[in-house]
Amino acid sequence: MPELPEVETVKETLKRKVLGKEIKDVKVIYSKIIENMDGDEFSQKLVGERINDITRRGKWLVFHLDHYCLLSHLRMEGKYFLKNISDEITKHQHVVFNFTDDTSLRYADTRKFGRMYLVPKSELESAKPFQELGLEPWDKRLNHQYLKEIYKSKRLPIKTVILDQGIITGIGNIYADEILFLSGINPFTPCNELAEKDLDNIIKNTRKTLEKAISEGGTTIRSYTSDEGVTGLFQNNLYVHCRANEKCLKCHSIIEKTRIGGRGTYYCPNCQKKRDES
Ligand SMILES: [Zn+2]
Repeated sequence: MPELPEVETVKETLKRKVLGKEIKDVKVIYSKIIENMDGDEFSQKLVGERINDITRRGKWLVFHLDHYCLLSHLRMEGKYFLKNISDEITKHQHVVFNFTDDTSLRYADTRKFGRMYLVPKSELESAKPFQELGLEPWDKRLNHQYLKEIYKSKRLPIKTVILDQGIITGIGNIYADEILFLSGINPFTPCNELAEKDLDNIIKNTRKTLEKAISEGGTTIRSYTSDEGVTGLFQNNLYVHCRANEKCLKCHSIIEKTRIGGRGTYYCPNCQKKRDES
């Protein structure tokens, strides 16, 4: 599943490819992708709209048009391809945006889990997908007081809580493991037992990890051509995630795999000791 850095990379790539283009017509082939209206209404509203900007909120891409904002979530397999209008529409291309310059942005999704919303510009902030999103990792309001206030009433493992998009948005399973490793925090630790210093470390390492991943993604994406699709997925150098039974890069202990809240979780039992052991 694309995580925040991949979505950020897709956003930057799309900006280079489609900013300023005007929509001539839209074909919705699989209408369940459109969450809040039917395919015909979606298509009609988009004719003549220009793509003025593309931003990201959580893992949602936001296309800023003249009168509307188009929200797009890639979920598991969603990808965008820039083609020419005359190119054949292939099996997995479900939404086709044709532009007045005869290029065509295709939303492809082999598993069809991706979703789009179209909302009037004035209703962007109150759009349904955004109502339950927490703070962005770089939001100035994200500090240890904010986390402490929310965490104090919960006894869930930090690994589960750090994935809660309603608290901090954009941390997926891969980066959650990396952030906790860098912070030296055992993933089972109940979140209400963390000290202010731990919370500061979580915030600092969230930003550091995501920034590093974004910069690596940005490097890889330059080699992408429109034929390969814009997925933003890239190989990252990870400390613990998916490295079970390998040696910790810091202390050479063996990385362990467990499950927390149903999610595969990787950690170093030495660098991330349980609190009663340290
Ligand atoms: Zn270690």
